[in-house]
Amino acid sequence: MDTVLHGRIRLATASLAGCFGCHMSLLDIDDHLFELAELVEFDRTPFTDIKQVGDCDIGLIEGGVCNAENVHVLREFRRRCRTIVALGACAVNGGLPAQRNHLDLGALLEEVYHTSPAAGKGLVPNDPELPLPLDKVHPMHEVVRVDYFLPGCPPSAEAIWSLLSDLISGHTPMLGRGLIRYD
Ligand code: SF4
Repeated sequence: MDTVLHGRIRLATASLAGCFGCHMSLLDIDDHLFELAELVEFDRTPFTDIKQVGDCDIGLIEGGVCNAENVHVLREFRRRCRTIVALGACAVNGGLPAQRNHLDLGALLEEVYHTSPAAGKGLVPNDPELPLPLDKVHPMHEVVRVDYFLPGCPPSAEAIWSLLSDLISGHTPMLGRGLIRYD
């Protein structure tokens, strides 16, 4: 995306099928948060509660893609953000949510909402306002082009800050020794 943005770097973040642990790790950059606040303007993120993503320099996204709303949000981020980062294991390879991929979705919903004793013979939710679940949980790169991948569950605050500060200063991210982890 060839957007010319003026002033401070605009940063957007979102959680798709994730647990917000990657966002918590971002908050864990501690004192660097003050630096970050000086360097960027936050666009759509759970921190601002802005609901629609605008034109941004960087989009950080955690979580796999498990339903139609996730696809919509991710495509919007890809359309509006010059650089997209898949943040954490769920975004990179589906992570924990993708553990349902070896099960049949219909049977799974039946079990959770109808069959299991805890469900009390409930009904599978079918309100048209609910986002349609996908058969499988997908990593982000199967839906949109991703510029950078940061693995880890979650990635450490140090790794997130290293990547972010490189991007903000216009450099290709180069993570130092020990910052890339897969656990
Ligand atoms: S990678 Fe781990 S911490 Fe991040 S959203 Fe997924 S489960 Fe949560």
